[in-house]
Amino acid sequence: MNKRGMLIILSGPSGSGKGTIVRRLLKARDDTVLSISATTRSPRCGEQEGIHYYFKTHSEFKELIKQGELLEFAEYNGNYYGTPEEPVRKHLIEGKNVILEIEVQGAERVMNYRSDLVSIFITIPTMVELERRLHERGSESEETICRRMEIARRELSRAFRYDYVVLNDEVPLAVERINTIINAESMRYSRMENYIMEVINNA
Ligand code: 5GP
Repeated sequence: MNKRGMLIILSGPSGSGKGTIVRRLLKARDDTVLSISATTRSPRCGEQEGIHYYFKTHSEFKELIKQGELLEFAEYNGNYYGTPEEPVRKHLIEGKNVILEIEVQGAERVMNYRSDLVSIFITIPTMVELERRLHERGSESEETICRRMEIARRELSRAFRYDYVVLNDEVPLAVERINTIINAESMRYSRMENYIMEVINNA
């Protein structure tokens, strides 16, 4: 069956567990890939070029924008983050679902001009739990954590723009919920239309 992949936006506050959820999801689904973003942020301990991000200088990032190579980009906590467009286009044509793990400003920009996507907002049980998770990560200063908490409040207030809200109380449950959404969305008539036509024409 010749079927295009789905573009899936996954957002949620820093510390909501998006990264862990995405890793588990990718292990469970060979029909789904993650878009690797470009960023001007410095690599955290253990992060690798081309696996976690493409790490860019400010001028390199500006050049990507100028050349029209980004599907979307946004400034977050003093750094730029953006989605390279070409790999996304290629994967979708090949029939792979592509996950954009991005923050809300960039997500809203994509939502404003593409209707063929599925958007999922991952939420945490409470703000107290979010703060605990950010401290547990241990990779950031107190000041950065405070700023990320402030951003998280703003992000939660934009959750209404998304198709689905998934609670990450326990990672395996959150992964299962997202799997259910992807499976159901892939059976929408609009995504099955080509298949139906093939069945009719080959009858
Ligand atoms: P972190 O610095 O924790 O890796 O990411 C900070 C925020 O930037 C997260 O909410 C993450 O989802 C978001 N982000 C990562 N890549 C992109 C991107 O390409 N575009 C946008 N708009 N946000 C991104």
